[in-house]
Amino acid sequence: MKRLAGKVSIVTGSDRGIGKGIAIALAKEGCSVVVNGHKKGKDALDAVKEIKSLGSDAIFVEADVSREQDVRNLIKTSVEKFGRLDILVNNAGILVSGTITTLTEKDWDRQMDVNLKGVFLCSKYAIRQMISQKKPGRIINIASIAGIVGFPGISAYCASKGAVTELTREAALDYAKYGITVNAIDPGVIVTDMTKSMLDDKPTRKSLMDNTPVGRFGTPEDIGNAAVFLALDASGFITGHNLVVDGGWTAR
Ligand code: NAP
Repeated sequence: MKRLAGKVSIVTGSDRGIGKGIAIALAKEGCSVVVNGHKKGKDALDAVKEIKSLGSDAIFVEADVSREQDVRNLIKTSVEKFGRLDILVNNAGILVSGTITTLTEKDWDRQMDVNLKGVFLCSKYAIRQMISQKKPGRIINIASIAGIVGFPGISAYCASKGAVTELTREAALDYAKYGITVNAIDPGVIVTDMTKSMLDDKPTRKSLMDNTPVGRFGTPEDIGNAAVFLALDASGFITGHNLVVDGGWTAR
């Protein structure tokens, strides 16, 4: 029995990386998936094809999560296609390197626009839709362990993820009465394009591995499995929680 059969999800930033891992994990449980990214390229088409091959329905909707008009269109197109929305995974994100003294104002704004304003905008229109349906809903924010412990050299990124972590708790309180849960997943080091340059650098790779007690880096599938857990009807009593999926990094 597929545990998310009949449900509809939007996963932002899901044409590759962690978002794609989440989209596939949801699809394996029978969930229809709206795949999203900046541009409809090969990655987007491949992700939709892969989901359909699993027997679930999927479409791609191009949208920049930091632009309100794009986000409105993302939610509207999804509901027009599938008739409802049960699960939003706010995954789209970028990593802008730099410290307080080296980051420009433009760097800071872009980091916050995608990682924080994007979560606000997508949640706003998704939650309005969920409330109108009078059915339980799920918001799952992909934050980071960088939102709960410091990482040198990425000030704006850490600040954006810390803010997402707190927004998760706050929104959980605002929407509990509608049966909408709001939780975050805090990944550790996951092998994707975002971490490629770090993992290609031998000393950095060794240092990251030394901090990961389970002895391997995470995969998009690891985060997908956690997202499925939070999306289930059976998880309805969990809200405002940060689920750390980091191979033990923050347990040290
Ligand atoms: P990634 O491989 O770089 O993929 C990023 C995804 O986000 C892509 O699908 C990209 O779409 C999309 N995206 C970026 N900006 C967007 C925008 N403005 N609007 C819509 N989509 C946008 O990154 P990842 O490693 O999978 O990271 C996914 C999430 O996990 C991020 O929030 C990241 O901060 C978080 N995270 C990652 C790690 C890690 O170790 N990898 C650890 C903790 C947290 P395009 O393909 O169109 O560019």
